[in-house]
Amino acid sequence: MSEHTRVLIIGSGPAGLTAAIYSARAQLAPLVIEGEPSSTSDQPGGQLMLTTDVENFPGFPEAISGPELMAKMREQALRFGAELRVNKVHRLDVSSRPFRAWLTGDDEPSVEADAVIVATGAQSLMLNVPGEERLLSHGLSTCATCDGFFFRGQEIAVVGGGDSALEEALFLTRFATRVTVVHRRDALRASRIMRDRAIAHEKIHFAWNSRVVEVLGADRVTGLRLADTRSGEERTLDVTGVFVAIGHTPNTTIVTGQVDLHPNGYVRTTEGSRTNVEGLFAAGDVQDDVYRQAITSAASGCVAAIDAERWLESQGI
Ligand code: NAP
Repeated sequence: MSEHTRVLIIGSGPAGLTAAIYSARAQLAPLVIEGEPSSTSDQPGGQLMLTTDVENFPGFPEAISGPELMAKMREQALRFGAELRVNKVHRLDVSSRPFRAWLTGDDEPSVEADAVIVATGAQSLMLNVPGEERLLSHGLSTCATCDGFFFRGQEIAVVGGGDSALEEALFLTRFATRVTVVHRRDALRASRIMRDRAIAHEKIHFAWNSRVVEVLGADRVTGLRLADTRSGEERTLDVTGVFVAIGHTPNTTIVTGQVDLHPNGYVRTTEGSRTNVEGLFAAGDVQDDVYRQAITSAASGCVAAIDAERWLESQGI
């Protein structure tokens, strides 16, 4: 027998947990399916669990760590009566209402929901070059916060030219003797403040106009084979660690084919958080390829909770 909830929230990053706080305070007793710890793409707490200091979330003038911020949001959602469950929605049917969700291990749907807020976030893009998959977790990582400690006293590389890459590079200077930022152009995409900090740091160096051709190493990373994007000339960069930080892709598997997506794969929302399916709302990075900040994600979770509440009321639920 399925359990029934008025509001099902899928995902527990800033969007999902803010939606939970608002829905719970509106007496809707939301059920939050948080994600699974074993998963790299949808772990409970979302991408902030892989972040170091969050310096731009209002209210924390001295900065707060990503995991600590998420723990506080979780505590706040629980305080108002949200039910949080570590599990994963592996299938969602929004073709008729109430919507139906299958959790891990379910052959039959175990949750019925009047409204659903999809807040499944986004995950790291990978380079898709030889050696990358084999050496993931053997010197190659997408998370400096998680793995930086293992690279004490070593020379490492960070791939990418955005804020994520520079944030990783700056954090890794705590452990590494030298950090080389490998970027495919000769100008960084990152914000001015991060650029200035990275360029001024004595441990950070740049490999400009460089494309990663291969991650080298038999059972541990020993280097990167780089190609010059202008001349095509190849060279080896000797490093024992590689951090890939080249952007993200939205986690839309459970809604693909059921809701309108933008051409780049992000969920299309209009009038706040509404998708083209009535009763189905989306919040956070799964529908935002522009701002992608913790604060905008949290704000969109608030919007989705209010939209869902008003929609439920309009349906007399
Ligand atoms: P991003 O801004 O999209 O940057 C991705 C970087 O990776 C770009 O420099 C891009 O190169 C490079 N890249 C993409 N695909 C590549 C490939 N296949 N091979 C090699 N390089 C590749 O992504 P992000 O850095 O993850 O940032 C995402 C958003 O989060 C941004 O809005 C950012 O401001 C925000 N963010 C903010 C902070 C902060 O404020 N502290 C920290 C992290 C992220 P090109 O430049 O050539 O396109």
